[in-house]
Amino acid sequence: MKKIAVFCIPAHGHTNPMLPVVRELAARGDEVRFYSFSEFQEKIEQTGAAFVGCDRFLPELTVREAENLKKVSATEMTLQDIRITAAMDTFLHDEFTSFRPDVVYTDSVCFWGKLNAWKYDVPMVVSTSTFAFNQMSSTYMKNTPGEMAGLILGLPKVSRELNRLKAYGYKVKGLFSLIRSDNQTDSVVYTSKRFQPYPESFSDHYLFAGPSLMTDTKPDKNHDRPLVYISLGTVINDRPDFYAKCIEAFRGENMDVILSCGKSVDLSGLGKLPENIRAFDTVNQLDVLSKADVFITHCGMNSVSESLYMAAPMVLYPQTNEQEAVARRVRELGAGIDLKDDSADGIRNTVKMILQNPAYRKAAQECCDDFRHCPGIKGAADFIENAPHSSDGVDLIRDLGKASVGLQVGYSAVTILLANLLFRFIDIKYLWIYIVLAVVLSVPVNKMLQKAVYKRLCRKNRQSTR
Ligand code: UDP
Repeated sequence: MKKIAVFCIPAHGHTNPMLPVVRELAARGDEVRFYSFSEFQEKIEQTGAAFVGCDRFLPELTVREAENLKKVSATEMTLQDIRITAAMDTFLHDEFTSFRPDVVYTDSVCFWGKLNAWKYDVPMVVSTSTFAFNQMSSTYMKNTPGEMAGLILGLPKVSRELNRLKAYGYKVKGLFSLIRSDNQTDSVVYTSKRFQPYPESFSDHYLFAGPSLMTDTKPDKNHDRPLVYISLGTVINDRPDFYAKCIEAFRGENMDVILSCGKSVDLSGLGKLPENIRAFDTVNQLDVLSKADVFITHCGMNSVSESLYMAAPMVLYPQTNEQEAVARRVRELGAGIDLKDDSADGIRNTVKMILQNPAYRKAAQECCDDFRHCPGIKGAADFIENAPHSSDGVDLIRDLGKASVGLQVGYSAVTILLANLLFRFIDIKYLWIYIVLAVVLSVPVNKMLQKAVYKRLCRKNRQSTR
């Protein structure tokens, strides 16, 4: 029997995939303490784990901070993460020294879980509720120029605040070492190797467990007319305008529609609904998806995993860059299409495209089969109980890092050589244009070369493991 301390940030999307695993651990007789917040108390207690309330450590937010959090600002979330870690320090010191956990199971962006595991030298398993993101897979995330500017401008403040944590005895090496998936940390990812971008770049410290879901329900698509399910998740779902367009899109159509609008939308504001459309603030999403023929989704990782687990193809309507990364992977596997035009006509036409082309359902079914063959909740619980894990030493990211140094040197050498040749024929006053071009081109050229080297490393690795 193990003593396991579980930590998560106050977010449903991050907490939900941990719950089935926690339930499995508690059922095995492990002593599990889940440090969380009152909003999640009921769900956590249903797993059999002991709920430890931490609401008193949540900072009072200014109006601006609350707005930034609602907009899922990465800088604001990081600053709050740091503040909560500092506020919980004395409490967690007492907990770690009295409970003495054998393992910490913590969400990947929950700083107080990770930093305390390191501080008290307890084996740690990180729970990754999205894809695992490293140098390769993060190329799936495209930040807008505005987001990039926000991140860069916020960095000095984040670094200052992070440095303050050192005074509490935390081993803070920097923001990226805290949030990025590395090849030395034991990690559970709730998707399959097939769905994860660049799966071979992750060492065997990673367990790709498949979706973490508490259900025995199987897909059942036998009904008279198609069922369309619509949800934008639990965070950015205050979109009465979008729900109104969906109602308009399906009014009088030979389809059944279930609309989950979230708790902040006044359902009566949607007006009298047509007979084929039902709207709720929340539904049992897995049950609905088991019957749904199409899911119009914001592409949260949980929603997409649940959809594929229930073999439902999707209309993809991502709202953040992380969701865009998930949408891209669904597109690549052929299990969904983008909602390019979110007018009523656009919504209806896109849904019909999915319904009329069996390839989407087939691709979703393939993902469903793949997910159902993953190690699952039991595999994740074994992995946590048996932490820490050793590795066979294969680390493609480390090898790629070494190769990248050579690439950089090579690129600089070619640039200098070319300059030498070029300026025999061209006036030297144009040198600045050449330098600007060389710098601008270095990013895409290096990315291209990096991808080529990665492919070569993967091939080499596959050959040596044959
Ligand atoms: N969900 C639910 N009922 C609903 C809408 C959503 O139970 O009516 C659940 C859904 O099953 C999923 C989670 O809320 O597990 C949403 O997580 P996701 O990562 O998709 O999006 P987020 O809410 O974090 O943006």
